[in-house]
Amino acid sequence: MRYEDFYRMSVEQPELFWAEQARLIHWEIPPQKILDQSNPPFRRWFVGGTTNLCYNAIDQHLAKRGEQLALVAISSETGITRELSYRDLYREVNTFAAVLKSLDVAKGDRVVIYMPNIAEAVFAMLACARIGAIHSVVFGGFAAHNLALRIDDARPKLLIAADAGMRGGKVIPYKPLVDAALDEATHSPPRVLIVDRGLDVQMTRVSGRDLDYASLRVAHEDAEVPVTWLESNEPSYLLYTSGTTGKPKGIQRDVGGYAVAMAMSIRNVFDIAPGQVMFSTSDVGWAVGHSYNVYGPLIGGATSLLYEGLPTRPDPGIWWQLCERYGVRTMFSSPTGIRVLKKQDPAWLKRYDLSKLKWLFLAGEPLDEPTAHWITDGLGVPVIDNYWQTETGWPAITLMPGLDLKPVKFGSPGLPAPGYKMKVIDEGTGLEAVPGEKGVLVFEPPLPPGCLTTVWGDDERYLSSYFSHFKELVYSSLDWAIRDENGYTTILGRTDDVINVAGHRLGTREIEESVATLPAVAEAAVIGVHDELKGQVPVVFATLKQDAGVAGAGTVARAMQQRVVEQLGGVAKPSRVYVVNALPKTRSGKLLRRSLQALAEQRDPGDLSTLDDPGALEEIRRALERGPDQG
Ligand code: AMP
Repeated sequence: MRYEDFYRMSVEQPELFWAEQARLIHWEIPPQKILDQSNPPFRRWFVGGTTNLCYNAIDQHLAKRGEQLALVAISSETGITRELSYRDLYREVNTFAAVLKSLDVAKGDRVVIYMPNIAEAVFAMLACARIGAIHSVVFGGFAAHNLALRIDDARPKLLIAADAGMRGGKVIPYKPLVDAALDEATHSPPRVLIVDRGLDVQMTRVSGRDLDYASLRVAHEDAEVPVTWLESNEPSYLLYTSGTTGKPKGIQRDVGGYAVAMAMSIRNVFDIAPGQVMFSTSDVGWAVGHSYNVYGPLIGGATSLLYEGLPTRPDPGIWWQLCERYGVRTMFSSPTGIRVLKKQDPAWLKRYDLSKLKWLFLAGEPLDEPTAHWITDGLGVPVIDNYWQTETGWPAITLMPGLDLKPVKFGSPGLPAPGYKMKVIDEGTGLEAVPGEKGVLVFEPPLPPGCLTTVWGDDERYLSSYFSHFKELVYSSLDWAIRDENGYTTILGRTDDVINVAGHRLGTREIEESVATLPAVAEAAVIGVHDELKGQVPVVFATLKQDAGVAGAGTVARAMQQRVVEQLGGVAKPSRVYVVNALPKTRSGKLLRRSLQALAEQRDPGDLSTLDDPGALEEIRRALERGPDQG
């Protein structure tokens, strides 16, 4: 089918279109109504239908492809590779589900998962899905405070953690961060289930609270746990993401809509049919990891590769070696991942037989043209930039080679995906921008299946964060965009105070709040500054209290960097810290982060008519000339 017809049907006759797509998954009870939009912008897909993500990801394939590889978990850090067929996965997930049940985890309970990219993380997610528990995976690169915030919001019955991850040959203990997070949180779960990889030999356990998965596993081996059928709109999982406030938002996903979106997109966007192989380099803690390391490929009966390690170890050919070994058809990574490889000898791209590799998808951050050209030429396969957000759960703007590949235009992720009624509108008037004019990227309700259904426990926040920006009731992506006359859209960056570091989304407020916990700091402004490798890096400008003491600016600046790493994790580490005497603000006291960012990137700081104290900008200019106090 042509893309144009597929897309048109999805937006003009959504019920017909999605009823057809719903046939791609197993329903225990078929939906009674395809779409209920009686309470916009909330919407319910496949009302009355009951299904289960785990059943669709595993059980439904057992008869036809029980012996086919389902999951290959490779760690270039430990040197261990685990190959699991659908039947193996079925066994492991049932055992895990039995362990969860033995710990009184039941339908609707939240389970926080804090693990690196190992097979058990996938078992844990699918085991939750099997019994109707709501998982909330927290990225292992986040530190204790970030974990504590997510625990307090989700109020889990159980936390599942690994003893440690590994990166670049170094063991990164997780358990001390778990302990610190549980000390800080007010709604700590009564139990912690630990998958001990034997990496952290000094790991301590709190008796009565911390349980060892290996011993419980033995007790529940060969268990079979019946699937809990869920109504399509019940919550399946939460995935926290950063916004403009310091408090992360729990993006809530449903069951049926998500399963259908996964089944449709794995086939038509990612061009993966049952039995084919997909390799996503994402971490399970991100949206891509959920959708295209776990649910998408498995619901689609494919083989999914999960990778723990760097793209450059043991050598910069490791990804392509894996592509050759497993016959990967579709690979999915991030622009930063490719920029890391770009620093290496391009001969690594040619060393392995990549004749089965058809597509490289890249997402999570803007794909710069030089990188897109470099990797397209190096691999000789089409590179497909695709745009999405944690909120959407699957690509919103992309090309769809599984259906019919439209021409790739460097610099643009392409055309709207099925069901996304996309517009670019003027920030002030809300009117549709003409081609070539910059505006805000919005989606008209109803959002397609798979997108967030609400913010966990906070419908008001769902409305105020996404639907309150314009007179018209539209979902604001909070991204600037520009559309050409053929409908190809280019993303120009965020409209809010969210920055994107190596494809990781961070709220500048979170970093500012963390820095400000140091007694010497009076106030901090954090901005994202362009970086060749990571796209953006966080940079801090901070003022100190009058009585900050005698410690030099360098010492305090270093302490700020350390505090962020301790509280939020290495991903958020400020790349530079400037200690200044004043921060630029409007007369109403709002920090002028965009002007700061412009100055730091040697651009025009823009309209300064609202600036309270012109001296503050001079102060920033001088600091930038002088160089950072740390970094
Ligand atoms: P996250 O929720 O972490 O996936 O971050 C979503 C944000 O990443 C979007 O709002 C965009 O700002 C950015 N983003 C994701 N994909 C792309 C892309 N292909 N091109 C440009 N920006 C992107």
